[in-house]
Amino acid sequence: MARSKNTSIIAGFVVRSTRKVPSYTHPGAFSSSLRRPRESENSMAKIICIANQKGGVGKTTTAINLGASLAVAERRTLLVDMDPQGNAGSGVGVERGVLRENIYNALIDDAEMAGVVKKTEIPLLDVIPSSDDLAGAELELVTMPERERRLARSLEAIAGEYAYILLDCPPSLGLLTLNAMTAAHSVLVPLQCEFYAMEGLSKILNTIRLVKKGLNPALAVEGILLTMYDGRNNLSRQVSEEIRNHFGETTFRTVIPRNVRLSEAPSHGKPILLYDINSRGAAGYLELAREIVEREVKNG
Ligand code: ATP
Ligand code: MG
Repeated sequence: MARSKNTSIIAGFVVRSTRKVPSYTHPGAFSSSLRRPRESENSMAKIICIANQKGGVGKTTTAINLGASLAVAERRTLLVDMDPQGNAGSGVGVERGVLRENIYNALIDDAEMAGVVKKTEIPLLDVIPSSDDLAGAELELVTMPERERRLARSLEAIAGEYAYILLDCPPSLGLLTLNAMTAAHSVLVPLQCEFYAMEGLSKILNTIRLVKKGLNPALAVEGILLTMYDGRNNLSRQVSEEIRNHFGETTFRTVIPRNVRLSEAPSHGKPILLYDINSRGAAGYLELAREIVEREVKNG
């Protein structure tokens, strides 16, 4: 296949290196109707909050790799790192402190969102990194007016530029997560296939109910995502079955397998699609993006 010199192939994805005509194609991943960019319809971004108060369940891994997969499907996507740990930003190659201003300044000092957005290696994926200061924001927000709505207000200015905005939350249900849930249209709940999974789930679903009641009546559950699934492990299979029986279609069809390549990619500052596109982890997140986009197309 003839290719101009500013394109290269990453394991089957054709990648143009210029940002002016960004294009990733993966013939097997998305049908042409699903490749239609949402932003061309002049709509505002769909804002998905990725939350679970339980630590280490795959929130950040999902935020990074779902974001990259949506971008590859030609949906302009913004990843917002709402966690002071800063793993979402570093996982797409943006180190903390690289920007003079970050999500902290947008939340606390009303800094303009456009000034805190950073481009990533994937043309249609942008990121707003976090900083250590964000840990203090939980306390600083307490006395601020409209303290739960500050992220929602900040995002208004840039929501028209994206098809999706993904909010990576910290492992707590404090004011940062509440800001994310108040700004979002829906919550995606990653769930590790392990013994205490159900217990944590009722807590987050209860929080979503409370946010719906008081702060964001339109908030929906995007879905429960089973992560780190190991089909050889009885417990993984049992948890998965139990969740599906209990929550039915609220559980994503897609299951993210336990895959060591997913855990290696962040130390290279790359989403899995740039680190090892042939891995099972990459296939899982492409499939998840497809499932989310398909729903969107179906629901108009
Ligand atoms: P925190 O609550 O601390 O923010 P988190 O919910 O964001 O954690 P991650 O950081 O995404 O969770 O994942 C926790 C650890 O598990 C990381 O080391 C990550 O690389 C690894 N991990 C996540 N998903 C998978 C997977 N599907 N297969 C293998 N390892 C994974
Ligand atoms: Mg995280």
